Amino acid sequence: MLDFLGTHQRTHTCGELRAADAGKTVTLMGWVNRRRDHGNLIFLDLRDRYGITQIVLDKEISPEGHPKAEHVRPEYVIAAIGKVRSRGADAINPKMPTGEIEIAATELLVLNDSKVPPFSPAEDAIQNEEVRLKYRYLDLRRHEMQHNFAIRHKIALAIREYLSAQGFYEIETPFLTASTPEGARDYLVPSRVSPGTFYALPQSPQLFKQILMISGMDKYFQIVRCFRDEDLRADRQPEFTQIDLEMTFPQQETVFAVVEGFMAAAFAAVGIALPTPFPRIAYDEAMRQFGIDKPDLRLPGLTDIRPAFTAEQLQSLGIDPALPVVAVRIPKVGELSRKERDDNRPLFESKKGAKLIDDLKRLEKSFPEAVEKLRELSGAAADDLLVIVAGDAATHIEASDTKFAGRLSEREIAVLSAAGNFRVELARKYADRHGAFAVTDAVVHAPGTPDALADGALAFRPLWVTDFPMFEHDPETGSWQPAHHPFTSPHEEDMDRLVSDPASVRARYYDIAMNGLELGSGSIRIHRQDIQQQIFRALGISDEEAKKRFGFFLEALQYGTPPHGGIALGLDRIVMILAGASSLREVIAFPKTAKAIDLMVDAPSTVRESQLKELHIRPIARE
Ligand code: ASP
Repeated sequence: MLDFLGTHQRTHTCGELRAADAGKTVTLMGWVNRRRDHGNLIFLDLRDRYGITQIVLDKEISPEGHPKAEHVRPEYVIAAIGKVRSRGADAINPKMPTGEIEIAATELLVLNDSKVPPFSPAEDAIQNEEVRLKYRYLDLRRHEMQHNFAIRHKIALAIREYLSAQGFYEIETPFLTASTPEGARDYLVPSRVSPGTFYALPQSPQLFKQILMISGMDKYFQIVRCFRDEDLRADRQPEFTQIDLEMTFPQQETVFAVVEGFMAAAFAAVGIALPTPFPRIAYDEAMRQFGIDKPDLRLPGLTDIRPAFTAEQLQSLGIDPALPVVAVRIPKVGELSRKERDDNRPLFESKKGAKLIDDLKRLEKSFPEAVEKLRELSGAAADDLLVIVAGDAATHIEASDTKFAGRLSEREIAVLSAAGNFRVELARKYADRHGAFAVTDAVVHAPGTPDALADGALAFRPLWVTDFPMFEHDPETGSWQPAHHPFTSPHEEDMDRLVSDPASVRARYYDIAMNGLELGSGSIRIHRQDIQQQIFRALGISDEEAKKRFGFFLEALQYGTPPHGGIALGLDRIVMILAGASSLREVIAFPKTAKAIDLMVDAPSTVRESQLKELHIRPIARE
């Protein structure tokens, strides 16, 4: 039999009471986390968002409540009314903030019962993620999830407050809109009123925020949902939240300072000091040093070890002397067995025209001096893992050799990125051995402690990557494709080479990365209609197509558009890092599976035929 709530009101939360409250009469409400029946005494651990408090039903103190407690089960919702009392010295639980007290209940109300849950929210780790997602409301009751959403809230709030204090307005932009190209497929919404036409859900508010700059709003931001239909991974969801911003008259550095400010505020909100400014590195340099455009700075980069070899040695090793020869070093991994090396080989992408030399012992037999030199160049200690990645003289991949002073060719980038990706794989695989990620785990799990404050700079390694190329070479078509969305401005001094030498054109585009994860990207935009048109043409978008898709924007550009630029950062990814989570699903309340399915509400789903009819849609059978 369930009880009515009547006029009872909760006086305290389940995380609140301490020894100093002993003697108070209180009313607590929450879920039964665990129940222990000791005959005349029944203990109920009562849980809510704030913590857990022990309730005691003593047959003598509560002759009516005690028999009810016999029937209470985990996840029942109850109200306990009684006196706070100090626990005996031997019963104190130092692990619980409320561990010094318990409630001697005089009255117990069973407000609701619960089916036996498919898993217990009292448990720390639940293996089956599908069950967690289907019963998300039970999963979200777990302490870990409540913590993740507490920090998500704090982070978003700190960012809002920071940006607002800097003069940014939060302005909403439409969800039912036209396509906003960010490199993914659109989610489309059919229009009932205009048969055969579709809205697209925004991949980002890109054009709206630019139009807000044309509208004189000066500084805009929005913590906004974006929608991208692309293949999902642990760090990708079809709908995700961006901290989106745009400013009038900025230099790149102006945008960086704003982001550094709000990032430091967000980290401070969860008790972690994040030093600013963040380091900056040009794209080519990032590729040279790390072989990737989102380097994890917690581990050493690549070393150019070509000077260790003579031309003859390179030739006898089958190494292309025109391409980079680099060492990947992972500290403290120790020597690998032959089996381990074989197991690692599939992690190396051989399609990039690169070759891997992973048996340095063997290499040493033939070229002892070279190996000594390359050890020295890479600063390797005796127990560091060292492997060599170089261009394979035997495979010439389809790529462009075009380059200009100081920049890398596509072919060089391919070799460096094979090395960079292998470095990431090895770093992940041997995390226990090199220990470089442990400091991050320690800090996220003990924020606010002196250690966390001191180690913030070691644990979180943000950096700006700048000067990306404007175009990418497509080996299949042999043409140059836009590397970013088409509103990104080229460097002013590279403009005259847009058509004659596209490979050499740098974009005023930047990424922010942290610990090997891309957190966001942005750019200084094109603000002149003539240049925008030129870029559309350079990207192979005809005048007609540009007019059809972006006519409104080309028109708006002609009404006094100020120079402007901005950026968007993934809020979910920032929270994921600060929660020490391995997937975005841990920090999004109602996420989708890798197949873009919401297992709780069972979406997507079929709809009634009448609905389709209204939308003028006729499904076709799947081939
Ligand atoms: N639209 C973003 C920008 O500010 C980029 C993005 O959404 O990834 O450039």
